[in-house]
Amino acid sequence: MDRDSLLARVRSKERLSEAEGLAIYSDLDTATLAEAATLVRERYSDPRIVTYLVDRNVNYTNVCITDCKFCEFYRPPGHAESYVLTRTDMHRKLAELVAVGGTRVLLQGGHNPDLRLRYYEELFRWIGAEFPTLELDALSPSEVEHIALLEGMSLEAVVDRLVASGLRGIPGGGGEILDDEIRARVSPKKIKTAAWLRVMEIAHERRLYTSASQVFGFGEEPIHRLRALEALRAQQDRSLARFGHGFMAFIAWPLQYESRYGEVFGKMKGWKLGGDAEDYLRHIAFCRVYLDNIPHFQASWPTMGLEVAGRALHHGCDDLGGTMMEENVVSQAGSVHACAPAESLVRVAKSAGFEARQRDSWYRSLSPTA
Ligand code: SF4
Repeated sequence: MDRDSLLARVRSKERLSEAEGLAIYSDLDTATLAEAATLVRERYSDPRIVTYLVDRNVNYTNVCITDCKFCEFYRPPGHAESYVLTRTDMHRKLAELVAVGGTRVLLQGGHNPDLRLRYYEELFRWIGAEFPTLELDALSPSEVEHIALLEGMSLEAVVDRLVASGLRGIPGGGGEILDDEIRARVSPKKIKTAAWLRVMEIAHERRLYTSASQVFGFGEEPIHRLRALEALRAQQDRSLARFGHGFMAFIAWPLQYESRYGEVFGKMKGWKLGGDAEDYLRHIAFCRVYLDNIPHFQASWPTMGLEVAGRALHHGCDDLGGTMMEENVVSQAGSVHACAPAESLVRVAKSAGFEARQRDSWYRSLSPTA
């Protein structure tokens, strides 16, 4: 398919098949993908506006038993550097968030076998009582599955108990590449594709906020990326048809490559790991074209930096995600861009030629245009 055919297809909102997606991902230049991605972006959001969220990531525990090969963040149970945040620490962090006008807290952690469902219920209720203005998005499909396995409960029952305690959203962490062949290589103990999608479907039915994230560059082939995108696109179709509600946003970034990964991923020697700015921009533009049913795309400044995030706004992204205030998972995997004040995100949007607007986690505008 050439440039003109692709742009004509996108303008007429004709969806690409998996085979067509594979062909354009390999054959078309990045500028063409960016042009097509911008057309899809403009279906869903005002082309003049870029949004951002004032939020905080709180990693409540780094204890994990899942041993993903790419993870620098976790510590096994009993390790000297393992932690579970105290309520005092949590209170200080959330009070700081409220003080800067934050509207959302994102709680994520490892698969800690000592934290049972009751821990999360009490924590979520406490946050709701202490900080009633904060929206609580927490965990990820893999953490939900971990709790369900610990408790011997169904995924539905766990989600229902968490929602009753104040959960309003489940971010799309742990997605990496949603293809079980790749998952078996890089995170063999972690949630499989069908269960990841099932948790999200349960969340959609309960009208929770959800996003889908993708980490690429584990040495997978383009077909694995396509399969992962196809799984998300099909799930979004199902959720929208059944519940009128689905993923609000998609975010992708390359594996934060470290030279030692050559050893860690020994079985994949010779495969390309991670990705540079050009790989990222090409990939995000392609994803925007292929994933034509997810309304918002976030530029990943925590992994790519603010300059590349600004360029991503011309490759299909309409949003700069959250300020985060702190981030420990990707930063410990080698990323140096752990947090940015709202002013920096506004500056990025403006430098790229857009007006910036603060939003809440449901993409409702909270501020006059900056
Ligand atoms: S990526 Fe998540 S599940 Fe995997 S080892 Fe790290 S904390 Fe555990």
